[in-house]
This record gives sequence, C-alpha cells and structure tokens, in this order.
Amino acid sequence: MPFRALGLGTSILKAIQEAGYTAPTPIQTAAIPLVLAGHDLIGIAQTGTGKTAAFTLPILARLERSPGAPPARHGTRVLVIAPTRELVVQIEENVRAYARHLPLRTATVFGGVGEQPQKQALRAGVDLVIATPGRLLDLMGQGFGDFSGLQFLVLDEAERMLDMGFLPDVRRIVRALPRQRQTLLFSATLSREIEALTHEFLRAPKLVQIGRRANPAETVTQFVYEVPHHAKMDLLTHLLRDPGMNMVLVFTRTKHGADKLARHLEATGIRTATLHSNRSQSQRLRALKDFKTGAVGVLVATDIAARGIDVDGISHVVNYDFPKHPEDYVHRIGRTGRAHAVGDAISFVTHEDKNELRSLERFIGRGIVRKHAEGFAAGAPPAPRPAAFRSGERRELSSPAGLRPQRQPQPATRQQPTPPSRPQLQPHGPRAEQGRKPAQGQPEFDPSRRGPRRRFQRRRSWR
Ligand code: AMP
Repeated sequence: MPFRALGLGTSILKAIQEAGYTAPTPIQTAAIPLVLAGHDLIGIAQTGTGKTAAFTLPILARLERSPGAPPARHGTRVLVIAPTRELVVQIEENVRAYARHLPLRTATVFGGVGEQPQKQALRAGVDLVIATPGRLLDLMGQGFGDFSGLQFLVLDEAERMLDMGFLPDVRRIVRALPRQRQTLLFSATLSREIEALTHEFLRAPKLVQIGRRANPAETVTQFVYEVPHHAKMDLLTHLLRDPGMNMVLVFTRTKHGADKLARHLEATGIRTATLHSNRSQSQRLRALKDFKTGAVGVLVATDIAARGIDVDGISHVVNYDFPKHPEDYVHRIGRTGRAHAVGDAISFVTHEDKNELRSLERFIGRGIVRKHAEGFAAGAPPAPRPAAFRSGERRELSSPAGLRPQRQPQPATRQQPTPPSRPQLQPHGPRAEQGRKPAQGQPEFDPSRRGPRRRFQRRRSWR
C-alpha cells in the first residue's frame, strides 16, 4: 500500500518522499488510519519498526486539517512523553522532518540542560511538546506550559518508562491534562502492567500489534562468539578489521567497562565514542553526532544510556558483555536492522554467560548460531588494522558531506562483494562437530526458519 492511500495530506506526503520512504512499514499501515479516525491506540511494536512515524504522521495530518481555534491556538495541542532525553531529541528530529512543510512550532523538554530556553519556548506557545516526564513535571509545577487545549497525548516506550520508575510522574502529568483527548501508547511488549496503564490512560483503545511479542526485529541476523573473558577485547579489535563493520554499536554492562574498552580501541587506532550516564548531556549529544556523521566508527554504550537511540545505518550491534535480561538483548539488537534495513547482532559469550544464553534462546524461541573468527587465537596479539579503517575511515568511504543518506529499502538478499580482508566466519563448536546436532538442552537452530545468511546492506549511499 502506498503512503498516499492512507489519507495523509499533501504537505506530509511531500515530506515523506523527501525522507526517502517508499512505502509504509506494517505498524504505519495499521496505525495511521486508526489514529486519523480518532481512536485511542495501543501500539505494540519492536523498536526500529517505524513507530515514531506511525504516530507522528496521522497526528500532523489531523493538526493540518484543524489549524486550531481559540483558546487552543496558543496552547500545546500535542504532548509526547518519552523515557530518555536521547529519545526525545530523536522524536523531535522525526517530527521536524515530517512537519517541514507545516507551520507548526515544536519544543523539547528534558533534564540535564538549562531550563531557561525550555521555559521561553513554553511561554511563547508551541503546538507540540516532546518531553521526558521529570523535567516536564518540574516546569508544569512552576506554571509553564498551557495544555488546556491538548488534543493528543503520546506515551512512547511505555515499558521503559515503567522500568525506569516514571509512572508516578506520568500519572501526575496526565491528571493535569484535559480528559477529552486522543491518547496513543506505544510499548515493545504488552505486559500486565502495560495493560493496566492502558485502562488508566486510554479510552476504548484499538490494539495494533506487529510481530510476535518479544521477538527480535526480523531483519537482524544474530550470532554468538564463544570467547574467554580475557580475550574479548582482542576479539573485538580483530572483528573490527572487517570493512563491513563500519558503524558499530557496542554494549558493555558498566560505565567503567565502556570507558576501558573505548580507551583500548582508541589506542589501537579505532575512533571510538562512549555513551553512558556519567557523561554530561552535551558529551552524549556530541558522541551521538560523531557516530551519526561517521567521525567515529564505534560507539560504546551502556543499556540505559542507549535507550531510544535512533541512528540510521548501524551495521552491527555487538553485545560485548552479554545482557543479563533477555528484554535488554531484544532492545539492544533493535538498534540495528531499523525499519527495512538489515543488520547483524553479535554477542560475546563467556563460560559464565552460558545459562543466560540458554534463557535468551528460550525467550526468543530460536537458537542462535555459534561462530568463530578464523585467524583469531584467544590471547594472540591482534593483527594491525588496515590504514583505511583508522581515524576518519567512514568519511573516506561516505557520500559527499551534507548528503542525506538514502533510506530506500535494499533487497535483503543482495550480495556485496566480500573484501579480501574480511575474516571468514565459520560455524564451530559442538554443532559443527556433531553434524549440526544441537547440544543437549539447547534448541536446535533451524536454518530454514531464517533463510540463508543475509549480508548486511548499508543504507547509506557511500559508493
Ligand atoms: P522507529 O521505529 O520510529 O525508531 O524508526 C526506525 C527508523 O526507521 C527511523 O530511522 C526512521 O527514519 C525509519 N523509517 C520510518 N518509517 C520508514 C519507512 N516507511 N520507510 C523507511 N524507513 C522508515
């Protein structure tokens, strides 16, 4: 179904075309008509499915149709609440892109930065506010923000807001809003707690559920390396020699671990940034910007700091430290394979992580392929990185500065020529040795369920 069949206005269709989207994603096809028809909505969708556009596009279309009558004209008509400042910034980027041909004013509200510009924006009057709960509640308590004419409330990544303990703040904000409004709630999972929230905040909502619950994004190819703890750093350095690993998000369990790893990678000539909660807001935004522009090829992050990261074209997610909870794994790997793109998720598994790996495989309902990096011996010094992959590497390969990456979906099976230096990754371990029979107690990996291994397709056009 093309976007124009969904009932969006011409200014919005133009912006969609300029963003390079050719067709709506499944969550967009399902949600947009329901929101346009005025229903409350529960959207259950994995991250990376295009859910931001699924709520933003129909809201903008509704605003375009009703330019706002007094007294609502100077007040805020749309409030989006999201758990992290990074997510707020990214939603705003999306909103600005889709609303670029509409005369709408937008403001973001989040902690960790000065209040003054946010107060000024709220005082001047804005159509859309995108906010984290804590700072918004603070400013509302000081009398800022006019939500008396609010028409739309969006609660994004609701499960994360619950996890992070924001429910009391959200409740207080929602109590201060008009009861007559349209409410949309998005969550990666539909837990009992989320269901309770929907009863509290939504009225006769429609449910849109994309994909199986807690199933990692369909387009991500997943595999694990079994590696002793002491060899993880060298294995990562070795893998990063692969030119295909050009935009890599690495997860560590701790902030200290993130800093240590980043220092090591920098020392081997790999430009690396870090994202964790000990870093200031401006350092975090800087790290994200450097990663997006290609000034650094590797971003090392902790789970909390990486929530809501929306960066196009991430080639690989590496679980350097295996996640403690399967939900974190699903969230992490959702950072690659966004929308129609294809990406790889690599997990390092030490002996101590084996139980967690088994729980994860049960949780996602499939086995994950084991691989080993040929030419890599645990403990041996890593081979030097080819010059092309040191500092500024992605810039050399990338499209001319200023060109927006193309977001055209690529056919998932298209092959890219394998560069000569790409390490050969072979299945190994008990399965390879036993003619691919599963180890006792582990679900069998069934290749027919995934199809042939799909190579990563870069969405950036830097050829
Ligand atoms: P989200 O799930 O909202 O975080 O979106 C994930 C990514 O998909 C974002 O980078 C969007 O820009 C992109 N995206 C959203 N809708 C589409 C679409 N219809 N076609 C291609 N990319 C899209």
